Amino acid sequence: MSGKPLHPVALVPTCDALPPPAPVNPHSLTGGRPDKPEEACGVFGVYAPEHPAAKLAYFGLYALQHRGQESAGIATFTTTEPYVHCYKQMGLVAQVFREDILVELPGHLAVGHTRYSTTGSSRVVNAQPILVQTRLGALALAHNGNLVNTLELRQNLAADAPDLVSTTDSELMAWTIRQYVNTGSDWLEAAIQGCQTFQGAFSLVIGTPAGLLGIRDPYGIRPLVIGLLEGTSRRYVLASETCALDIIGAEYLRDVEPGELVWINEAGLASFHWVERPARKLCVFEMIYFARPDSVMHGESLYSYRRRLGEALAQESPAEADWVFAVPDSGIPAAIGFAQVSGIPYTEGLIKNRYVGRTFIQPTQAMREAGIRMKLNPLRDVLAGKRVVIVDDSIVRGTTSRKLVRVLRDAGVREVHMRISSPPVTHPCFYGIDTDSQDQLIAARKSVAEITDHLGVDSLAFLSWSGMLKATGENPQEFCSACFTGDYPIPIPQPLKQSKLILEQTGIR
Ligand code: SF4
Repeated sequence: MSGKPLHPVALVPTCDALPPPAPVNPHSLTGGRPDKPEEACGVFGVYAPEHPAAKLAYFGLYALQHRGQESAGIATFTTTEPYVHCYKQMGLVAQVFREDILVELPGHLAVGHTRYSTTGSSRVVNAQPILVQTRLGALALAHNGNLVNTLELRQNLAADAPDLVSTTDSELMAWTIRQYVNTGSDWLEAAIQGCQTFQGAFSLVIGTPAGLLGIRDPYGIRPLVIGLLEGTSRRYVLASETCALDIIGAEYLRDVEPGELVWINEAGLASFHWVERPARKLCVFEMIYFARPDSVMHGESLYSYRRRLGEALAQESPAEADWVFAVPDSGIPAAIGFAQVSGIPYTEGLIKNRYVGRTFIQPTQAMREAGIRMKLNPLRDVLAGKRVVIVDDSIVRGTTSRKLVRVLRDAGVREVHMRISSPPVTHPCFYGIDTDSQDQLIAARKSVAEITDHLGVDSLAFLSWSGMLKATGENPQEFCSACFTGDYPIPIPQPLKQSKLILEQTGIR
């Protein structure tokens, strides 16, 4: 259905007379693409007529900044015209929003998104929430994850979505739901009908004039939690991680279950299970690295889990050394765990510049070549002449680790024993994490002995797959660990496989 939208939308202008300068891409400061998988997105939603919903969304996104640093956006809903307000822009949450912009986002319901691009290029047109008009008013969709059947969805929509403006799977999802609404379904029916056509990973927060939707795919690959706001009325919040609840003083209630849809409005929260046989397959990389260490999953902080990874690593692969230290910040809990079990004292060995990515001035070529030093600087007096265990959470391409070892050698370190608190990454991710194609993954091409030589370390060991899953304390079957095994819980269509699973497709691996 097309024609005049039922509810008009107020779009807050996406640029000012004097737009803020774009910060220098942090990857160009540290010598190219990051040597870690990059998280795709953070999502947030709140229904709270008694609260400033946009401000809560702002702080929720501020806590979820680590899940995407390319763009940020908030859409709010009001009960009077123009019903929907939206502002989204490239940049960090604190760069995109100011007090005067939040004032222009009134309403009782807000949906927020922070993005790193895994599908679609890094442009403001791809920023979220995605706004689409339907016969029942606007919907604002925020998505974390990645679909594997976008070609099919695009074909299904071809005639009905001439106005697709972005290149993202998220926009296809919004238009698919719109199609069901416009052919007669109500919001709940349309959301469920839409989800039944989506294949892949999706944690969705969707704002509508009638209420807020939270949906998780049948495998629950990306996280989504429900919180309760303090106050006399029961008002609910949805967020990718519990750290976004903490910052606004909301209490963690529970996770949205795999294959569950929650519908939040004035009447409270209603739950619907739209999949017959959901199977829990949370991304284990969320536990190891992506999610913030102060976020809670499975009833404990990820800091505690990551410490246990380090303890298991020390038991599996001990080393003789004078110091244990971490690649900051993500390796710290595992390094502390390793130190505790091994009895080797823990120290800081590398100091991280916490403001990388916040400079607006391009570095010189020589500085670029120094690469890693823009971000990490060694404590020479602590390290010189010592045998060290350096603990990191993962190795993807090995480029950063190699530079780091050179920096440590230059600082006079006598022996470098590298310990990694996850198994070798041998397969790319198709479910919302930006990993390189398989031929770029060092562990897909080289054995541990070859990687040891390549990095120039005296010894190297990875945590075993069983050790990683045992440390979760949960049923190992309840996790996706495909980037370590190639055992993908959601089948990957052949054209997509060809784009990234290069070694397997060519028979090299
Ligand atoms: S393939 Fe790896 S990164 Fe992707 S969802 Fe599975 S465990 Fe997570």
